[in-house]
Amino acid sequence: MQQGADPVRPEESERVDAVDVIVVGAGFAGLYMLHRLREQGASARVFERGSGIGGTWFWNRYPGARCDVESMEYSYQFSEELQQEWEWTERYATQPEILRYAEHVAERFDLMRDIQLETSVVSATWDEAASRWEIRTDRGDRVSARFCVLATGCLSSTNHPAFEGAERFRGDTYHTGRWPHEGVDFTGKRVGVIGTGSSAIQSIPHIAAQAEHLFVFQRTPNYSIPANNHPLDPEFQRRIKAEYPAFRARNRAMPAGLDTHPNDESVLAVSAERREEVFESRWEHGGLPFMGAFNDLGTSHEANELAKDFLHRKIRALVDDPATADLLCPDQEVGCKRICVDTGYFETFNRENVRLVDVRTAPIEEITETGLRTADASYELDAIVYATGFDAMTGAILGIDIRGQGGESLRDAWSAGPRTYLGLQSAGFPNLFTVTGPGSPSVLSNMIPSIEQHVEWIADCIAYLDAHGHESIEAELPAQDAWVDHVNEVASATIYLGCNSWYLGANVPGKPRVFMPYIGFPTYVAKCEEVVSKGYEGFQLT
Ligand code: FAD
Ligand code: NAP
Repeated sequence: MQQGADPVRPEESERVDAVDVIVVGAGFAGLYMLHRLREQGASARVFERGSGIGGTWFWNRYPGARCDVESMEYSYQFSEELQQEWEWTERYATQPEILRYAEHVAERFDLMRDIQLETSVVSATWDEAASRWEIRTDRGDRVSARFCVLATGCLSSTNHPAFEGAERFRGDTYHTGRWPHEGVDFTGKRVGVIGTGSSAIQSIPHIAAQAEHLFVFQRTPNYSIPANNHPLDPEFQRRIKAEYPAFRARNRAMPAGLDTHPNDESVLAVSAERREEVFESRWEHGGLPFMGAFNDLGTSHEANELAKDFLHRKIRALVDDPATADLLCPDQEVGCKRICVDTGYFETFNRENVRLVDVRTAPIEEITETGLRTADASYELDAIVYATGFDAMTGAILGIDIRGQGGESLRDAWSAGPRTYLGLQSAGFPNLFTVTGPGSPSVLSNMIPSIEQHVEWIADCIAYLDAHGHESIEAELPAQDAWVDHVNEVASATIYLGCNSWYLGANVPGKPRVFMPYIGFPTYVAKCEEVVSKGYEGFQLT
């Protein structure tokens, strides 16, 4: 709990019957939404499921959790004072440092008095006669609000594969996205980690260093680039702060809103020496900018093949046992699943106490009382870590029973996959907004700038409706249909549709296979601005 803050505790809170806006979620999106609304004189209340604020950085406390966007970029830019006063300590901030930052923001802008913790929103129902949302929580709150903003997070609803017998396991069970606050001591334990995505890749080296034995159960290997993390040079930080607004503006204009130092050469057009030199320097630099090495890695299969070959060679050079190295080399194209950023991941498989288990050829069949059984072997375990990710982008939204015009359920409206206009609204659900919703760049961008852009768009929209005497705003169906088609069309010209990623919902059995984020920051920002300049084109104002 943040010092000096004055949180509203559920048991102390008075029941609020009517506010202008209900915000669901108190991560970076919900915090800034609350601040903006307050600044423009709207009354707002935030409901947050967790016992603290910070969202992702509150829940994901697994060992090694840290950002893979550089600290100077992964932070709010809406307040010059805030960005000047906060000092980051490392190139990539750790989870505790980012959580401290979120708590600092909440305290600095006096946000806690409008945030109700340990409260889940369970339903939101549009009252057509009153043009208001009625929101209900698991604490019995019933609130009427003109607007409802879902700041529920793209990666906040954890994915728990339904393994046969999971409840029988007598050892300890953890999910990286719900890590115990007091931490976990794996000393002397036989641990199994299921999954090899970003969360696993960050935590595995730490768990391996502690556990007696670690089994890593891998279904799909992933590409990972070394972080090359280091303490932040105070002089570097001072230089950026001296021109912070210009630095932010420059990065916002880059693909994904992130400074990946994009190189505008085609990998297919350069010599073999030049190709190797660029890939090598990106590998040394570390992190996500690897994807900016050439301009066609995301769009040309032939180009991507060359990046793949380079990264396979790196894995083979890092991992001593050739059979293990083979298993760690991904088949999918580089970036089709989100690439990971690690510190010592591949080298961890050279440790005597670590074993990689391929559960693609021999899948996990059941969890037993004492461990786990795959199609061809049994493993005795004291603890199982599910690093199995999230029901991404739609999980948290559809976790709420949302009923719009004519009582239509959002779960029904999205039964074949999410449908939005600009990732901001869904037709049939007036005055309901999603921050970084499906159909917006969201997870394919540096998320804090994307969050700020959405929050500002929504806040400005509410101010516009008030100023012009409009009661409600709703996405029009034709505009939504055209936007969904556009999102799919853009994705189909890339390498993104060729693997089973969570971008496509493919990690959750039964989830419709639909590409959910929009590839196109910053052109997307211009599109949102154009829509406003044309009097909210594609939206119906009533
Ligand atoms: P969240 O932080 O997810 O907050 C949403 C909140 O809503 C949660 O606290 C949740 O409890 C609450 N909530 C949901 N449903 C309800 C409900 N029904 N009732 C009440 N409360 C509810 N992005 C990057 O750009 N760079 C990174 O390096 C990066 N690293 C990441 C590392 C991890 C481990 C994960 C999981 C994600 C990472 N992300 C990263 C994405 C990250 O989620 C965003 O950057 C950002 O923190 C999202 O903020 P948010 O407020 O939109 O959502
Ligand atoms: P993830 O990328 O979805 O990885 C989940 C892993 O669990 C995958 O390896 C998946 O295998 C495996 N898995 C799922 N169900 C399984 C099953 N039934 N049997 C066997 N294996 C199974 O989730 P994540 O690692 O939590 O990361 C999610 C996203 O959060 C990231 O992509 C990133 O955007 C963000 N994140 C960022 C950081 C960071 O570095 N800053 C850290 C963590 C998370 P398959 O691939 O075969 O499905």
